[in-house]
This record gives sequence, structure tokens and C-alpha cells, in this order.
Amino acid sequence: MKVIKTIEEMRRWSRSTRARGETIGFVPTMGYLHEGHLRLIREAKKHADRLVVSIYVNPTQFGPNEDFERYPRDFARDESLCKQEGVDAVFYPSNEEMYRPFHKTYVITEDLSEIMCGVSRPTHFRGVTTIVAKLFNIVQPDFAVFGQKDAQQAVIIKRMVEDLNFPVKIIVAPIVRESDGLAMSSRNKYLNSRQRKEATVLYRSLQLAEKEYSGGNHDPESIKQKMRRLIERESGGKIDYIEMVDAETLGAPRPGEGDILVALAVYFNSTRLIDNTILKIR
Ligand code: AMP
Repeated sequence: MKVIKTIEEMRRWSRSTRARGETIGFVPTMGYLHEGHLRLIREAKKHADRLVVSIYVNPTQFGPNEDFERYPRDFARDESLCKQEGVDAVFYPSNEEMYRPFHKTYVITEDLSEIMCGVSRPTHFRGVTTIVAKLFNIVQPDFAVFGQKDAQQAVIIKRMVEDLNFPVKIIVAPIVRESDGLAMSSRNKYLNSRQRKEATVLYRSLQLAEKEYSGGNHDPESIKQKMRRLIERESGGKIDYIEMVDAETLGAPRPGEGDILVALAVYFNSTRLIDNTILKIR
């Protein structure tokens, strides 16, 4: 497995891989890999001749008072996990490599980036779309795998790829959970033991939404209210948002037409956790 730190070398690797007629799969991550990331890697391996994983904590997707500095990092461990999974190349650039001093260009997916997570994190998706566009240009993959865990991100990336004509197929892989239901996340490490226990209520609130919906309650306000009450009763978490939207457009649900995304973000002190589920219309 190759560890590649410069854009030039990454480009050279991609060019020679393509010249051999091999396809390239790509899994972008911020590292501190867990089973959720590994599933994306395994999914990507099914489709590609060669697989690139990027490990880069992208500063432009963090707000000024967010956790960029303290975001967990462990490259040695990530490297050995990637090796075990049969990854061909790990792209591990520095900030200086990715953002030159006079960087001025950003990719913005309008509207979709302003709702849900975009309300409390107004510059977050601009950072995500910008770095993913840069990485696509550098790695030149045939397809890339993202996790359903970041449902809004997946919708935005698909929109960007279509709008800007990136020749990259986007695959979205299911959410991987701990045995008690908590969605795996590098940020779970911030939780103390009480918060860790309480955080399981997020998944239970999503299960409640599933139960209500399949039991015939199709009133989003009533479902969200029940979820809110459960979370507030069983945890000290502070709800950032609970939304029910059309799973493809993130617009208002289209009753009987599109699947519904139930998504939430909850703060446990300064740790912000997100989770979601899809209510299938049939
Ligand atoms: P991150 O390193 O948190 O930026 O995540 C990198 C990729 O892994 C993104 O596409 C995430 O959606 C995906 N991912 C993170 N956690 C999970 C999870 N628990 N299940 C599925 N995918 C995940």
C-alpha cells in the first residue's frame, strides 16, 4: 500500500492506474477510522480495481468555534487498518498541500447547504463540497463511496456531482451502528460514560419515528414532537434540530411519493451528534 502526501504524486498514481485500464474507487475520510469507514472501504472494493482512501481533517468544514484542533487523529492506526483492508493508496496530504496561501475558490451548493445542519454550521457544507471537488480532481476516481450517516452531505455531494458534471458515480452505504444502536462516529470518543449511555436515545427516537409512521401516523409535527419528548426525557442532550424531509430533495415530504428522511442533531455538551433513518413509502 502506498502512502501519498502530494497532489502531484497522487495524480501520477491515478494516471498510471488508468493507463493500465484499471478503475479507481475512492473513500474520502477525516481519519480516526472505525467500522463505519471500513464498511465503506469494503463496499468500494467490490466495485473497483484499485482503491484510494483519503485521510484529511479539512479545516474549511469546521466553524471558528468547532472542534478542528481537537478532532481525533491517529495516522499510524489508520494506515495499518487501510493496509489490512487491502487499500491500494492512502492520500494523506498536509494543509499546506491542500490550501495554498491565496486560496479563494469555494464550491457552494445553494439552499441544500443552508437547512438542517447548515443552520448551526453555516460554512460547513461549503467546506465539504470544496474539499470533495478538490479531491475528485486530484484522485480522478470512477466512483466514490459516502455514508448514509451524513445523509444531508450525501444529497449535497450528489447534487454537486450532477451540477458540475463530475464523471464520478456516487455510492451511498448504510449507517453502521454500535451494538446498542449508537451510530459510529469519530466524535463518540468525546462522550463521557453518562453521555455515551444517554446518546443511545437518538437511535431509539428514530425507531420511535419508524414505529409511528408504519403504525399510520403520517403527521411530521406529531412524530417530531414524540421524538423530542423522548430525547428530552431520557437524556441531557440539547436538540439542535429534528427534521422530516423528502429523502432525495430535502424539501417538504411528498406524501405517498418519496421516501422520508428523519434526521436529527443533538448536542451532548459541546459534542454534536447526528443520526437519521429513512421511512420507506413502500
Ligand atoms: P468522516 O471521517 O466522519 O468525515 O466520514 C467519512 C465517511 O464515512 C463519510 O462518507 C461518512 O458518512 C462515513 N461514515 C462515518 N460514520 C459512519 C457510520 N457510522 N456508518 C456509515 N458511514 C459512516
